[in-house]
Amino acid sequence: MDLFEYQARDLFAKHDVPVLAGEVIDTPEAAREVTERLGGRAVVKAQVKTGGRGKAGGVKLASDPDDAVEKARAILGMDIKGHTVHKVMLAQTADIAEEYYVSFLLDRTNRTFLAMASVEGGVDIEEVAATKPEALAKIPVDAIDGVGIEKAREIVAAANFPAEVAEQVAEALVKLWDVFIKEDALLVEVNPLVKTGEGRIIALDGKVSLDANAEFRQPDHAALEDKAAADPLEAAAKAKGLNYVKLDGEVGIIGNGAGLVMSTLDVVAYAGESRGGVKPANFLDIGGGASAEVMANGLEIILGDPAVKSVFVNVFGGITACDAVANGIVQALELLSSRGETVDKPLVVRLDGNNAELGRKILSDADHPLVEQVDTMDGAAARAAELAAK
Ligand code: GDP
Ligand code: MN
Repeated sequence: MDLFEYQARDLFAKHDVPVLAGEVIDTPEAAREVTERLGGRAVVKAQVKTGGRGKAGGVKLASDPDDAVEKARAILGMDIKGHTVHKVMLAQTADIAEEYYVSFLLDRTNRTFLAMASVEGGVDIEEVAATKPEALAKIPVDAIDGVGIEKAREIVAAANFPAEVAEQVAEALVKLWDVFIKEDALLVEVNPLVKTGEGRIIALDGKVSLDANAEFRQPDHAALEDKAAADPLEAAAKAKGLNYVKLDGEVGIIGNGAGLVMSTLDVVAYAGESRGGVKPANFLDIGGGASAEVMANGLEIILGDPAVKSVFVNVFGGITACDAVANGIVQALELLSSRGETVDKPLVVRLDGNNAELGRKILSDADHPLVEQVDTMDGAAARAAELAAK
């Protein structure tokens, strides 16, 4: 889960990373009082989960409370790379002498954690990485040893931080590592980490991504979720305990087992290329022991997606054999009609594995007008794509 900058700022403050005072608001008028509280001046920053806000006009300095209202009015509602600004953070202004970059992240390729640091921070770190890779130090961090002051000094030295800020930056790194580990983050990035005119080190912009797998031991993190932005179908699926991810295509997908569903997405995307560019509409793994009710819930979510034109049910019978799944599909369709849901989109079903013959017979006998069977995964994907393309 990616956090907004103001949420990252709060986590930084919680772990004693030096930050400036800031408050988040969602109406322009609220800017006046907050700016007065911040000392009469403020930087007004769009809260969107994407970078490059500064370049897009989403970061503006306000010289007084009235100016802050005007700047907040200009930024609220702005579109930044497809993200609408619903909130702005007002923060104390900093007198910036230098801008640096530091981050900790999970480096999956090398199966380790990684620290990155550069004295050429600011808005364009991606460009620094691409054109001047030697200016971006990359230091692996052992998961057990972590980042104590010695390790932090090693990172600072590798990135050639100026001597007068070296120790302060090292201390900030130790605290940022606390954020990374104690909050179960996958990414903690500060860009810019600034040196002020007075020589103080402050984290001016933060990006934090939390590991959803650690939700069970981070009870406070649920409150950080952006409920307003959550996709309504995903929220409905979550409420039903379904493993569903909304995608932007037209072929609804139901399968059992995450691996099978992932490869189903691939074959549908491939089959769709030559059929008007149709794509999978979602990921939905109903798991190994799918009951009729789970199937009905899954179908209900998928059929409730207005973008869906056809549905591909791809099941490999295992412990739950194909006959049980076939009965589940038949009952699910009955259940949906009894709930008053209109089922009006074609379903392509591919059953294979344990008791496939029996499962196919159950569906043939039920003879539902919208259900079609195809024996192979590629064939079924092609048929589902064809139906969606019409
Ligand atoms: P981003 O563009 O989304 O990464 O947003 P940032 O929060 O990093 O802001 C972009 C740039 O705005 C920073 O690199 C700074 O140069 C500038 N900036 C942000 N806050 C302040 C501030 O308080 N004072 C000054 N002078 N500049 C600021
Ligand atoms: Mn930034």
